[in-house]
Amino acid sequence: MTTLTHKISSGKNVLITAALPYANGDLHVGHIAGAYLPSDIYARYLRLQGVNVRTVCGSDDHGVAMVLAALKESSTPAAVSAKYHARQKAALEGIGINFDIYGATSRNKFHTPLSQKFFKKLFDQGCFTKKSSEQYYDSAKASFLPDRFVRGTCGYCGTKEQNGDQCENCGKELDPTVLKDARSVLSGEPVTLKQTVHWFLDLSKFQAQVAHWLDQAIIRQHTRSYVKGLLAQGLVERSMTRDLDWGIPVPLEDPDAQGKVLYVWFDAPIGYISNSMELAERLDGNPDAANEWWNSDKTDVYHFIGEDNTIFHTIIWIAMLAAEGDYCLPRGVIVNHFLNFQKPGSEVEKMSKSRGTAVWISEYLAGGGAPDVLRYALAIIAPEESRSVFNPADLVARNNSELGATIGNLFQRIIQFTRSKVSPEIPASDPARFTDLDKQFMATLQRCHEEVTADMNDFHFRDAITKLLEFGRVCNRYVDEQAPWKMIKVDPEQTKVSLAMLFNALKFLAVALAPFLPDTTEKMAQMLGLSKDERLWAQASTPLPAGRELIEPMILFPRIEAEGDQK
Ligand SMILES: [Zn+2]
Repeated sequence: MTTLTHKISSGKNVLITAALPYANGDLHVGHIAGAYLPSDIYARYLRLQGVNVRTVCGSDDHGVAMVLAALKESSTPAAVSAKYHARQKAALEGIGINFDIYGATSRNKFHTPLSQKFFKKLFDQGCFTKKSSEQYYDSAKASFLPDRFVRGTCGYCGTKEQNGDQCENCGKELDPTVLKDARSVLSGEPVTLKQTVHWFLDLSKFQAQVAHWLDQAIIRQHTRSYVKGLLAQGLVERSMTRDLDWGIPVPLEDPDAQGKVLYVWFDAPIGYISNSMELAERLDGNPDAANEWWNSDKTDVYHFIGEDNTIFHTIIWIAMLAAEGDYCLPRGVIVNHFLNFQKPGSEVEKMSKSRGTAVWISEYLAGGGAPDVLRYALAIIAPEESRSVFNPADLVARNNSELGATIGNLFQRIIQFTRSKVSPEIPASDPARFTDLDKQFMATLQRCHEEVTADMNDFHFRDAITKLLEFGRVCNRYVDEQAPWKMIKVDPEQTKVSLAMLFNALKFLAVALAPFLPDTTEKMAQMLGLSKDERLWAQASTPLPAGRELIEPMILFPRIEAEGDQK
């Protein structure tokens, strides 16, 4: 049984969110491959399908990570988050990922009241237990240490230098009983444990609701199995408050709540809603119009995230929404795995800021890298079913041998040849002259359209782009077999048939590649003179009418000289 057999329900609006990145650093290719590119590909696809879509993202400005970043940069969390927010937004837009809103949880005016209202509603319903618990404490600094101020060795898999909340390697939650050799990030000293009061959400109360949601949700098989495994182990209580002076104050009269803030993972997903409100205020003139997207059976909500956010989106957030009751549960949570990194001649490593094993989006763009080439290189190795490896040296081969040689060259040679040897416009062809090979080629195009549509509906973007590249190869083989440059000398009419077939193929590629290569397909559409309607997904495999004037073809994927190439 395949898990993702999703047909787009006609007439439904779709709200797409991508994980809110912490505003404490720049974005690298791993972030893009995990949540942002897949969400953008899906949004662009749905829009071509005529679906009413809103895309929501933004920076996650709260939490311990921000306080740590401010400490490190001798700055304030507010300043640090504003700085990285702007850089993240620029990087995303630089590679064609334009969310309808890229909000900021610390500056969105709806966010604090909404998060506090959300917390208070759960509190009033008796969802929280106030408990004294042992918390990491730094005696040298006389300060409680939230999870990320503590680093140690994962007691499950032995990975060193893990944060005190979750192991980056095995994904398991860590607590003082599991984390070994725990040290304070503030002083570097071993930590002690001290009593403090917090409000705990007992997730086990929502076990049945989460399990029920999981059964119906659009979710990848690996995610389903993973979450089922967690549910089988039984859910536990989790503290939803923190001892921290940056964040959203706990909205309770209780003196014990003084100086405490909401756990960042409590307020971050609420950011999807508060950012939707900011967007609704802008687009509809009324922030409450966001309810039409969050509390309506006319809308499906999809969250796109990386694997490290799985527990928060598939368990805690679902429990929070079920408890609050005013919003629909998400239709799907699409989880990608991590992207590992491999420098030429080196071992495969985890992508890591501290080890310098990453490609930064801003650096890639500043170095003249084409957005579409990076989008393609990440889509074709998308870590959808398992982790995959990004090797920066592959970018050259992906551009030159795949995009350039297969797709770019096809457009170039067909349009060039037609203009110089046949006619200045797309030639008319006589269907009576279609050969078996032509009919076979048309059937392949049709089949590719159907298969790619199924892949896109099922969130199998890697399969879709792989099939489109393969179709490009089929086209090139067809050109070689037909050899129009020879055929034109003996049978000009038959040559026009072959060219008409190929122009249909070019049109198909110009439409079907659009979710992946937005800049390039813009040029393709221009070269073929495609109208807005002709660029709709449903029209991708309909023939391109004859008689349209052809303009001088553009070079779609300029060759990249690899280091060491002859100049
Ligand atoms: Zn581990």
